[in-house]
Amino acid sequence: MKACRDYRIPVRIGVNAGSLDKKLLNKYNGICAPAMVESALDNVRLLEDMDFREIKISLKASSVPLTVEAYRLIARQADYPLHLGITEAGTINRGLIKSALGMGILLSEGIGDTIRVSLTADPVEEVWAAYEILRDLDMRQRGVELISCPTCGRCEIDLIRTAEEVDKCIRHLDKPIKVAVMGCVVNGPGEAREADIGIAGGRGFGLLFKDGSIKGKVPEDRLVEELLKEIEEIGSDDTEKTIATDSHRLNTDEHR
Ligand code: SF4
Repeated sequence: MKACRDYRIPVRIGVNAGSLDKKLLNKYNGICAPAMVESALDNVRLLEDMDFREIKISLKASSVPLTVEAYRLIARQADYPLHLGITEAGTINRGLIKSALGMGILLSEGIGDTIRVSLTADPVEEVWAAYEILRDLDMRQRGVELISCPTCGRCEIDLIRTAEEVDKCIRHLDKPIKVAVMGCVVNGPGEAREADIGIAGGRGFGLLFKDGSIKGKVPEDRLVEELLKEIEEIGSDDTEKTIATDSHRLNTDEHR
């Protein structure tokens, strides 16, 4: 701790529901949010007694309600930055749902300063998912946002395949733009116009929209290709567009 203090290296006190101290498990009759909070605060006191305050706290569990309860409790009791995460959240689809739910609830309440999405998957997906969560809460925008409709009887193109192809190609592009892939010319143009670039499918063709206006009518088999060409033409922007409003800024002082 002395070395950390000398070099101003912060330390994270990371409580994991699965490895709580036996004494606490006995005291609380098993794993629960107050036991996790007590474990973290015991360690906080230990470091504070050594005059060390460069602390961050995490209280992770694989259960969303338990994690949320633990963070809500500690947010009322400690004034240190909180690192959020649902641990052992699972394989990609399940893990994304748990992480988005848990972190979404907490971040929207102003709790949390840094986040980690834990997936049984390539870590690149974890970073992508974390930025998606932040964007969907209007906290930070990085990468392409994809809007696509759920399809219905009006859809006359293979929208699921089209949207998946587009998603695969734009997923890791570093451009803070909005792309819409819509299935029909009845409800599609509205969203497609609102996006930076979009398509609305017709019978065997699609209307291509850019910056709110129709750019052309493209045969279905060239839709993805033409859409990607247009996206490529939009200048790359390495600078993250940070949407940090007063109510959404990830700032400890303002949010606890
Ligand atoms: S945009 Fe058109 S195809 Fe897609 S769900 Fe709406 S009405 Fe159906």
